[in-house]
Amino acid sequence: MSILEVKNLKKNFGSLEVLKGIDFSLEKGEALAMIGASGSGKTTLLRCLNFLERPTHGQIIVNDKVIFDADDNKSLGDAQIRKNRLHFGMVFQSFNLFPQYTALRNCTLARELMAKERPDFKENKKKIMDEITAEGEALLESVGLKEKMNYYPHQLSGGQQQRVAIARALMLQPDILCFDEPTSALDPELTGEVLKVIRGLADRHTTMVIVTHEMKFARDVSDKVLFLDQGTIAEYGTPEQVFEHPKEERTRQFLERYF
Ligand code: ADP
Repeated sequence: MSILEVKNLKKNFGSLEVLKGIDFSLEKGEALAMIGASGSGKTTLLRCLNFLERPTHGQIIVNDKVIFDADDNKSLGDAQIRKNRLHFGMVFQSFNLFPQYTALRNCTLARELMAKERPDFKENKKKIMDEITAEGEALLESVGLKEKMNYYPHQLSGGQQQRVAIARALMLQPDILCFDEPTSALDPELTGEVLKVIRGLADRHTTMVIVTHEMKFARDVSDKVLFLDQGTIAEYGTPEQVFEHPKEERTRQFLERYF
């Protein structure tokens, strides 16, 4: 069963059509690598999934439920958008951690705020908070940062900050974890530690969409590859199909330049 279906998604910025009708689906447990030249629309597509941008046209379906339909988008209020967003975890290029909070608090904050909405929060406050803290600690441990959980972002390297950002996204147990060029802001010697964490997630069949310029990584880690060119899907298939036997000349040209 598809966990995500994107149907005829279009996005305009004024008269500029950035996404020109995107169709793809993702199965539970699959990692999809999204590749393409700068400006081809990769970030915009991820931002549409996460409602950081409102698509101009099309549908987004998660677990067989239409969570966005451009023809019916007037009814989508802020509360519903916040709810929809929880399907998608986001890991940004520039980490986007809260500078005033420790690594652990960065991970636990959203869950604490959500827990406060629970009707039983007052009577079970200590138990609930302890559980959230334990989960945050376990996730930081899983990304190799147990020792650093009480550090603030400025006390951490870029690679460590990005690993905190991954743990923070996982805290919300998203259906689909999205990465927007997660290593492009990092010095080359720090990319390996972040890619290793993402590779580990792929090994554990975490459903992911990964925008990346790291072609070798995309080939090794993904189940499907989507090549975006000027707002359209130029090529879609297994890493072997796309990297070894591309159908389109423009894919071949791109791979020659970037691989
Ligand atoms: P990629 O991630 O593949 O580099 P983007 O999605 O960032 O591509 O950008 C695709 C196109 O959309 C570019 O031409 C970019 O200038 C344009 N674009 C992106 N965001 C905006 C915006 N908020 N307003 C206007 N144009 C935008």
